[in-house]
Amino acid sequence: MSAPAFPEELIRPDLRDFTGYSSARTSYSSPGTSTAATAPVQAWLNANEAGLPNLADPGARVRRYPEPQPPALVAALADLYAVAPEELVVARGSDEAIDLLVRAICRPGQDSILQTSPTFGMYAVSARLHGVRVVDVPQRQVEGEFGVDVEEVAAAALEQGCRIIFLTSPGNPTGSLVPAPDVERLLQLVQGRAVVVVDEAYLEFAQVDSVRPLTEQHPTLVVLRTLSKAHALAAARIGVALAHRDLAVLLRRVQAPYPIAEPAAALAVRALEPEALADTEARVASTVANRSRLVGLLRASPAVQAVHEGRANFVIARSRDAAGLLDHLQECGIVVRDLSRYPGLHDAVRVSVGSSHEIDLLERALSTDDPRPSADTTTPDVRNR
Ligand SMILES: *Cc1c(COP(=O)(O)O)cnc(C)c1O
Repeated sequence: MSAPAFPEELIRPDLRDFTGYSSARTSYSSPGTSTAATAPVQAWLNANEAGLPNLADPGARVRRYPEPQPPALVAALADLYAVAPEELVVARGSDEAIDLLVRAICRPGQDSILQTSPTFGMYAVSARLHGVRVVDVPQRQVEGEFGVDVEEVAAAALEQGCRIIFLTSPGNPTGSLVPAPDVERLLQLVQGRAVVVVDEAYLEFAQVDSVRPLTEQHPTLVVLRTLSKAHALAAARIGVALAHRDLAVLLRRVQAPYPIAEPAAALAVRALEPEALADTEARVASTVANRSRLVGLLRASPAVQAVHEGRANFVIARSRDAAGLLDHLQECGIVVRDLSRYPGLHDAVRVSVGSSHEIDLLERALSTDDPRPSADTTTPDVRNR
Protein backbone atom coordinates (compact mmCIF):
# COMPACT_ATOMS: atom_id res chain seq x y z
CA MET A 1 0.00 0.00 0.00
CA SER A 2 1.46 3.36 -1.01
CA ALA A 3 -0.44 5.09 1.75
CA PRO A 4 0.53 8.38 3.35
CA ALA A 5 3.67 8.28 5.50
CA PHE A 6 3.53 7.89 9.26
CA PRO A 7 4.17 11.34 10.80
CA GLU A 8 7.66 11.25 12.26
CA GLU A 9 6.72 13.81 14.93
CA LEU A 10 4.68 11.11 16.62
CA ILE A 11 7.72 8.95 17.25
CA ARG A 12 9.59 9.68 20.45
CA PRO A 13 12.41 11.98 19.28
CA ASP A 14 15.09 10.07 21.18
CA LEU A 15 14.02 6.81 19.51
CA ARG A 16 13.85 8.00 15.89
CA ASP A 17 17.24 6.50 15.08
CA PHE A 18 17.03 3.67 17.64
CA THR A 19 17.87 0.33 16.08
CA GLY A 20 17.09 -1.86 19.10
CA TYR A 21 19.09 -4.76 20.47
CA SER A 22 21.03 -6.58 17.81
CA SER A 23 20.57 -10.23 18.67
CA ALA A 24 22.50 -13.11 17.16
CA ARG A 25 19.31 -13.99 15.29
CA THR A 26 18.74 -10.53 13.83
CA SER A 27 22.36 -9.79 12.94
CA TYR A 28 22.79 -13.05 11.04
CA SER A 29 20.06 -15.09 9.41
CA SER A 30 18.84 -18.20 11.05
CA PRO A 31 19.66 -21.83 10.32
CA GLY A 32 18.16 -23.06 7.09
CA THR A 33 18.25 -19.73 5.27
CA SER A 34 20.88 -18.72 2.81
CA THR A 35 23.27 -16.02 3.90
CA ALA A 36 25.83 -13.68 2.48
CA ALA A 37 28.57 -16.00 3.72
CA THR A 38 30.91 -17.42 1.12
CA ALA A 39 30.17 -21.00 2.22
CA PRO A 40 26.98 -22.61 3.50
CA VAL A 41 26.89 -22.37 7.29
CA GLN A 42 27.69 -25.72 8.93
CA ALA A 43 27.89 -24.67 12.54
CA TRP A 44 25.90 -21.98 14.31
CA LEU A 45 28.17 -20.87 17.12
CA ASN A 46 27.12 -17.24 17.44
CA ALA A 47 24.36 -17.29 20.04
CA ASN A 48 25.69 -19.35 22.97
CA GLU A 49 22.95 -21.92 22.50
CA ALA A 50 23.34 -25.46 23.82
CA GLY A 51 24.95 -27.97 21.50
CA LEU A 52 22.51 -30.74 22.43
CA PRO A 53 18.83 -30.65 23.41
CA ASN A 54 17.31 -30.91 26.85
CA LEU A 55 15.97 -34.33 27.90
CA ALA A 56 12.51 -32.73 28.04
CA ASP A 57 12.86 -31.59 24.43
CA PRO A 58 13.88 -34.70 22.47
CA GLY A 59 12.95 -33.12 19.13
CA ALA A 60 15.23 -30.14 19.87
CA ARG A 61 12.43 -27.74 19.08
CA VAL A 62 13.52 -25.14 21.57
CA ARG A 63 17.29 -25.60 21.76
CA ARG A 64 17.92 -22.48 19.69
CA TYR A 65 16.52 -18.97 20.10
CA PRO A 66 13.36 -18.38 18.06
CA GLU A 67 12.87 -15.87 15.27
CA PRO A 68 11.84 -12.55 16.87
CA GLN A 69 8.71 -12.53 14.63
CA PRO A 70 8.11 -16.19 13.67
CA PRO A 71 7.49 -16.11 9.89
CA ALA A 72 4.82 -18.85 9.78
CA LEU A 73 2.86 -17.12 12.52
CA VAL A 74 3.24 -13.69 10.93
CA ALA A 75 1.99 -15.12 7.63
CA ALA A 76 -1.02 -16.80 9.26
CA LEU A 77 -1.94 -13.68 11.21
CA ALA A 78 -1.50 -11.41 8.19
CA ASP A 79 -3.92 -13.69 6.34
CA LEU A 80 -6.39 -13.73 9.21
CA TYR A 81 -6.48 -9.96 9.58
CA ALA A 82 -6.04 -9.16 5.86
CA VAL A 83 -2.90 -7.03 6.15
CA ALA A 84 0.60 -7.20 4.70
CA PRO A 85 3.12 -8.95 7.01
CA GLU A 86 5.01 -5.63 7.29
CA GLU A 87 1.92 -4.03 8.83
CA LEU A 88 1.72 -6.49 11.70
CA VAL A 89 3.63 -6.83 14.96
CA VAL A 90 3.22 -10.03 16.97
CA ALA A 91 3.39 -9.43 20.69
CA ARG A 92 2.93 -11.31 23.95
CA GLY A 93 -0.76 -10.56 24.04
CA SER A 94 -2.20 -7.22 23.09
CA ASP A 95 -1.07 -6.20 26.57
CA GLU A 96 2.46 -6.07 25.25
CA ALA A 97 1.35 -4.26 22.11
CA ILE A 98 -0.23 -1.54 24.29
CA ASP A 99 3.03 -1.22 26.20
CA LEU A 100 5.12 -1.01 23.02
CA LEU A 101 2.90 1.77 21.68
CA VAL A 102 3.22 3.81 24.86
CA ARG A 103 6.98 3.32 24.92
CA ALA A 104 7.54 4.13 21.25
CA ILE A 105 5.37 7.24 21.14
CA CYS A 106 5.32 8.91 24.55
CA ARG A 107 8.18 10.73 26.25
CA PRO A 108 8.35 9.75 29.93
CA GLY A 109 7.64 12.58 32.35
CA GLN A 110 6.25 14.73 29.58
CA ASP A 111 3.57 13.19 27.38
CA SER A 112 0.10 11.83 27.98
CA ILE A 113 -2.34 9.27 26.66
CA LEU A 114 -6.11 9.55 26.55
CA GLN A 115 -8.58 6.89 27.65
CA THR A 116 -12.36 6.84 28.00
CA SER A 117 -13.47 5.36 31.32
CA PRO A 118 -14.87 2.92 32.21
CA THR A 119 -12.30 1.03 30.21
CA PHE A 120 -9.63 -1.67 30.15
CA GLY A 121 -7.04 -1.12 32.87
CA MET A 122 -3.88 -1.81 30.88
CA TYR A 123 -3.76 1.53 29.06
CA ALA A 124 -3.34 3.39 32.34
CA VAL A 125 -1.00 0.72 33.76
CA SER A 126 1.35 0.95 30.78
CA ALA A 127 1.22 4.74 30.91
CA ARG A 128 1.97 4.84 34.60
CA LEU A 129 4.87 2.39 34.35
CA HIS A 130 6.33 4.55 31.61
CA GLY A 131 5.90 7.83 33.50
CA VAL A 132 3.15 9.07 31.20
CA ARG A 133 0.04 10.99 32.29
CA VAL A 134 -3.46 9.66 31.69
CA VAL A 135 -6.16 12.04 30.48
CA ASP A 136 -9.59 10.53 31.01
CA VAL A 137 -12.67 11.50 29.03
CA PRO A 138 -15.48 9.54 30.70
CA GLN A 139 -17.96 7.85 28.39
CA ARG A 140 -21.52 9.12 28.33
CA GLN A 141 -24.34 6.99 29.61
CA VAL A 142 -27.70 6.89 27.93
CA GLU A 143 -30.14 4.65 29.76
CA GLY A 144 -27.23 2.78 31.30
CA GLU A 145 -25.49 2.11 27.95
CA PHE A 146 -22.07 3.65 27.54
CA GLY A 147 -20.80 5.48 24.48
CA VAL A 148 -17.71 7.46 23.48
CA ASP A 149 -18.23 11.08 22.43
CA VAL A 150 -15.52 11.49 19.81
CA GLU A 151 -15.89 15.28 19.56
CA GLU A 152 -15.16 15.57 23.26
CA VAL A 153 -12.27 13.09 22.98
CA ALA A 154 -10.71 15.02 20.08
CA ALA A 155 -11.06 18.36 21.88
CA ALA A 156 -9.40 17.00 25.04
CA ALA A 157 -6.62 15.25 23.12
CA LEU A 158 -5.76 18.38 21.14
CA GLU A 159 -5.99 20.68 24.13
CA GLN A 160 -3.81 18.45 26.34
CA GLY A 161 -1.48 17.31 23.57
CA CYS A 162 -2.19 13.61 24.14
CA ARG A 163 -0.06 11.45 21.84
CA ILE A 164 -2.16 8.28 21.95
CA ILE A 165 -5.95 7.90 22.16
CA PHE A 166 -7.08 4.45 23.28
CA LEU A 167 -10.56 3.31 22.23
CA THR A 168 -11.95 -0.17 22.83
CA SER A 169 -14.58 -1.63 20.55
CA PRO A 170 -16.41 -3.59 21.82
CA GLY A 171 -15.50 -1.97 25.13
CA ASN A 172 -14.39 -3.73 28.27
CA PRO A 173 -16.25 -3.59 30.61
CA THR A 174 -19.00 -1.72 28.73
CA GLY A 175 -19.55 -4.08 25.78
CA SER A 176 -20.39 -1.02 23.61
CA LEU A 177 -19.11 -0.49 20.10
CA VAL A 178 -17.38 2.61 18.83
CA PRO A 179 -18.94 2.79 15.35
CA ALA A 180 -16.51 3.02 12.43
CA PRO A 181 -17.87 6.44 11.32
CA ASP A 182 -17.03 7.76 14.81
CA VAL A 183 -13.48 6.40 14.56
CA GLU A 184 -13.12 8.07 11.17
CA ARG A 185 -14.51 11.33 12.51
CA LEU A 186 -12.02 11.22 15.39
CA LEU A 187 -9.14 10.64 12.96
CA GLN A 188 -10.29 13.63 10.92
CA LEU A 189 -10.58 15.82 14.00
CA VAL A 190 -7.13 15.02 15.41
CA GLN A 191 -5.49 15.24 11.97
CA GLY A 192 -2.50 13.06 12.64
CA ARG A 193 -1.56 14.79 15.87
CA ALA A 194 -2.19 11.68 17.96
CA VAL A 195 -2.12 7.96 17.27
CA VAL A 196 -5.62 6.50 17.55
CA VAL A 197 -5.60 2.93 18.85
CA VAL A 198 -8.75 0.84 18.46
CA ASP A 199 -8.51 -2.26 20.64
CA GLU A 200 -10.70 -4.92 19.04
CA ALA A 201 -10.07 -7.72 21.54
CA TYR A 202 -13.75 -8.77 21.40
CA LEU A 203 -14.58 -7.91 17.80
CA GLU A 204 -15.43 -11.49 16.77
CA PHE A 205 -18.38 -11.54 19.18
CA ALA A 206 -19.83 -8.29 17.80
CA GLN A 207 -20.45 -9.48 14.25
CA VAL A 208 -19.34 -6.17 12.77
CA ASP A 209 -16.33 -5.40 10.57
CA SER A 210 -12.95 -4.33 11.86
CA VAL A 211 -11.99 -0.67 11.40
CA ARG A 212 -8.66 -1.93 9.97
CA PRO A 213 -9.42 -0.78 6.37
CA LEU A 214 -9.39 2.82 7.66
CA THR A 215 -5.61 2.46 8.17
CA GLU A 216 -5.23 2.76 4.40
CA GLN A 217 -6.28 6.42 4.54
CA HIS A 218 -5.12 7.08 8.09
CA PRO A 219 -1.51 6.17 8.89
CA THR A 220 -1.99 7.08 12.57
CA LEU A 221 -4.68 4.45 13.17
CA VAL A 222 -3.52 1.29 14.97
CA VAL A 223 -5.80 -1.73 15.50
CA LEU A 224 -5.16 -4.31 18.21
CA ARG A 225 -6.33 -7.90 17.89
CA THR A 226 -5.70 -10.93 20.07
CA LEU A 227 -5.96 -14.73 20.06
CA SER A 228 -6.88 -14.67 23.77
CA LYS A 229 -10.66 -14.36 23.51
CA ALA A 230 -12.42 -15.71 20.41
CA HIS A 231 -9.55 -18.06 19.59
CA ALA A 232 -9.44 -19.45 23.15
CA LEU A 233 -5.65 -19.14 23.48
CA ALA A 234 -5.30 -16.78 26.45
CA ALA A 235 -2.33 -18.63 27.92
CA ALA A 236 -0.43 -18.70 24.63
CA ARG A 237 -0.09 -14.91 24.92
CA ILE A 238 -0.40 -13.92 21.27
CA GLY A 239 -1.72 -10.51 20.35
CA VAL A 240 -1.01 -8.20 17.45
CA ALA A 241 -0.79 -4.56 16.51
CA LEU A 242 -1.89 -3.75 12.96
CA ALA A 243 -0.07 -0.54 12.17
CA HIS A 244 1.52 1.54 9.45
CA ARG A 245 4.69 -0.23 8.37
CA ASP A 246 6.97 2.59 9.57
CA LEU A 247 5.45 2.45 13.03
CA ALA A 248 5.53 -1.37 12.97
CA VAL A 249 9.31 -1.27 12.39
CA LEU A 250 9.78 0.88 15.46
CA LEU A 251 7.47 -1.24 17.62
CA ARG A 252 9.55 -4.32 16.77
CA ARG A 253 12.73 -2.47 17.73
CA VAL A 254 11.26 -1.43 21.06
CA GLN A 255 10.25 -5.03 21.81
CA ALA A 256 12.31 -7.55 23.80
CA PRO A 257 14.73 -9.58 21.64
CA TYR A 258 12.93 -12.94 21.33
CA PRO A 259 9.43 -12.20 22.56
CA ILE A 260 7.43 -15.07 21.09
CA ALA A 261 8.15 -18.48 22.64
CA GLU A 262 8.37 -21.26 20.04
CA PRO A 263 5.72 -23.55 21.63
CA ALA A 264 3.27 -20.64 21.74
CA ALA A 265 3.98 -19.72 18.12
CA ALA A 266 3.57 -23.33 16.96
CA LEU A 267 0.29 -23.68 18.83
CA ALA A 268 -1.03 -20.43 17.37
CA VAL A 269 -0.11 -21.52 13.84
CA ARG A 270 -2.11 -24.72 14.35
CA ALA A 271 -5.02 -22.70 15.72
CA LEU A 272 -5.08 -20.68 12.51
CA GLU A 273 -5.32 -23.66 10.18
CA PRO A 274 -8.67 -24.01 8.38
CA GLU A 275 -10.16 -26.72 10.58
CA ALA A 276 -9.36 -24.92 13.83
CA LEU A 277 -10.60 -21.62 12.38
CA ALA A 278 -13.91 -23.22 11.45
CA ASP A 279 -14.17 -24.59 14.97
CA THR A 280 -13.43 -21.13 16.37
CA GLU A 281 -16.20 -19.70 14.24
CA ALA A 282 -18.62 -22.28 15.66
CA ARG A 283 -17.43 -21.59 19.21
CA VAL A 284 -17.95 -17.85 18.72
CA ALA A 285 -21.47 -18.48 17.37
CA SER A 286 -22.33 -20.61 20.38
CA THR A 287 -20.88 -17.97 22.71
CA VAL A 288 -23.14 -15.38 21.13
CA ALA A 289 -26.14 -17.71 21.53
CA ASN A 290 -25.16 -18.41 25.13
CA ARG A 291 -24.88 -14.68 25.74
CA SER A 292 -28.59 -14.32 24.95
CA ARG A 293 -29.41 -17.15 27.30
CA LEU A 294 -27.30 -15.55 30.04
CA VAL A 295 -29.07 -12.22 29.53
CA GLY A 296 -32.43 -13.96 29.79
CA LEU A 297 -31.70 -15.71 33.04
CA LEU A 298 -30.13 -12.64 34.62
CA ARG A 299 -33.17 -10.55 33.62
CA ALA A 300 -35.42 -13.12 35.25
CA SER A 301 -33.53 -12.95 38.54
CA PRO A 302 -34.98 -10.77 41.30
CA ALA A 303 -31.38 -10.07 42.42
CA VAL A 304 -30.73 -8.21 39.16
CA GLN A 305 -32.37 -4.91 38.19
CA ALA A 306 -30.86 -4.29 34.74
CA VAL A 307 -28.79 -6.19 32.22
CA HIS A 308 -26.68 -4.80 29.39
CA GLU A 309 -25.96 -7.43 26.81
CA GLY A 310 -23.24 -5.57 24.91
CA ARG A 311 -21.36 -7.01 21.94
CA ALA A 312 -18.60 -9.04 23.63
CA ASN A 313 -18.33 -12.39 25.44
CA PHE A 314 -19.62 -10.98 28.72
CA VAL A 315 -22.65 -9.13 30.00
CA ILE A 316 -23.17 -6.54 32.72
CA ALA A 317 -25.75 -7.00 35.46
CA ARG A 318 -26.78 -4.16 37.74
CA SER A 319 -28.10 -4.91 41.19
CA ARG A 320 -29.46 -2.93 44.12
CA ASP A 321 -27.14 -5.11 46.18
CA ALA A 322 -24.20 -5.91 43.92
CA ALA A 323 -22.01 -6.83 46.90
CA GLY A 324 -24.66 -9.25 48.14
CA LEU A 325 -24.98 -10.79 44.69
CA LEU A 326 -21.21 -11.23 44.45
CA ASP A 327 -21.11 -12.87 47.88
CA HIS A 328 -23.99 -15.16 47.08
CA LEU A 329 -22.44 -16.30 43.82
CA GLN A 330 -19.09 -16.78 45.49
CA GLU A 331 -20.71 -18.99 48.11
CA CYS A 332 -22.06 -21.06 45.24
CA GLY A 333 -18.56 -21.34 43.81
CA ILE A 334 -19.13 -18.87 40.98
CA VAL A 335 -16.71 -16.03 40.46
CA VAL A 336 -17.82 -13.02 38.47
CA ARG A 337 -16.12 -9.65 38.13
CA ASP A 338 -16.87 -6.91 40.64
CA LEU A 339 -17.16 -3.60 38.74
CA SER A 340 -17.87 -1.40 41.76
CA ARG A 341 -14.60 0.49 41.34
CA TYR A 342 -15.41 1.52 37.76
CA PRO A 343 -17.02 4.94 37.27
CA GLY A 344 -20.71 4.63 36.45
CA LEU A 345 -20.75 0.93 37.35
CA HIS A 346 -20.82 0.95 41.17
CA ASP A 347 -23.87 -1.29 41.15
CA ALA A 348 -22.62 -3.70 38.50
CA VAL A 349 -20.97 -7.06 38.01
CA ARG A 350 -19.51 -8.43 34.79
CA VAL A 351 -20.31 -12.01 33.92
CA SER A 352 -18.30 -13.84 31.25
CA VAL A 353 -20.45 -16.01 29.01
CA GLY A 354 -18.44 -19.18 29.69
CA SER A 355 -19.66 -22.64 28.69
CA SER A 356 -23.25 -23.95 28.70
CA HIS A 357 -22.42 -25.95 31.80
CA GLU A 358 -21.13 -22.86 33.57
CA ILE A 359 -24.34 -21.01 32.69
CA ASP A 360 -26.32 -23.94 34.13
CA LEU A 361 -24.40 -23.53 37.37
CA LEU A 362 -25.07 -19.80 37.40
CA GLU A 363 -28.76 -20.38 36.73
CA ARG A 364 -28.97 -22.79 39.64
CA ALA A 365 -27.10 -20.35 41.91
CA LEU A 366 -29.49 -17.52 41.01
CA SER A 367 -32.50 -19.64 41.81
CA THR A 368 -31.35 -20.66 45.31
CA ASP A 369 -31.24 -18.18 48.20
CA ASP A 370 -29.36 -20.60 50.29
CA PRO A 371 -26.20 -21.90 48.73
CA ARG A 372 -25.06 -25.33 49.75
CA PRO A 373 -21.81 -25.07 51.62
CA SER A 374 -19.55 -26.00 48.73
CA ALA A 375 -16.84 -28.58 49.28
CA ASP A 376 -14.26 -25.92 48.51
CA THR A 377 -12.19 -28.17 46.32
CA THR A 378 -11.67 -25.67 43.56
CA THR A 379 -9.01 -23.05 43.61
CA PRO A 380 -10.49 -19.67 42.81
CA ASP A 381 -9.44 -18.34 39.45
CA VAL A 382 -7.73 -15.10 40.30
CA ARG A 383 -7.06 -13.89 36.82
CA ASN A 384 -8.17 -10.36 36.42
CA ARG A 385 -9.37 -9.82 32.90
C1 LIG B 1 -8.72 -9.25 27.21
C2 LIG B 1 -8.36 -7.93 26.60
C3 LIG B 1 -7.21 -7.80 25.84
C4 LIG B 1 -6.38 -9.00 25.53
O1 LIG B 1 -5.22 -9.02 26.14
P1 LIG B 1 -4.13 -10.11 25.71
O2 LIG B 1 -2.92 -9.50 26.29
O3 LIG B 1 -4.11 -10.16 24.22
O4 LIG B 1 -4.54 -11.38 26.33
C5 LIG B 1 -6.92 -6.59 25.23
N1 LIG B 1 -7.75 -5.56 25.37
C6 LIG B 1 -8.89 -5.65 26.07
C7 LIG B 1 -9.81 -4.50 26.13
C8 LIG B 1 -9.21 -6.83 26.72
O5 LIG B 1 -10.32 -6.89 27.47
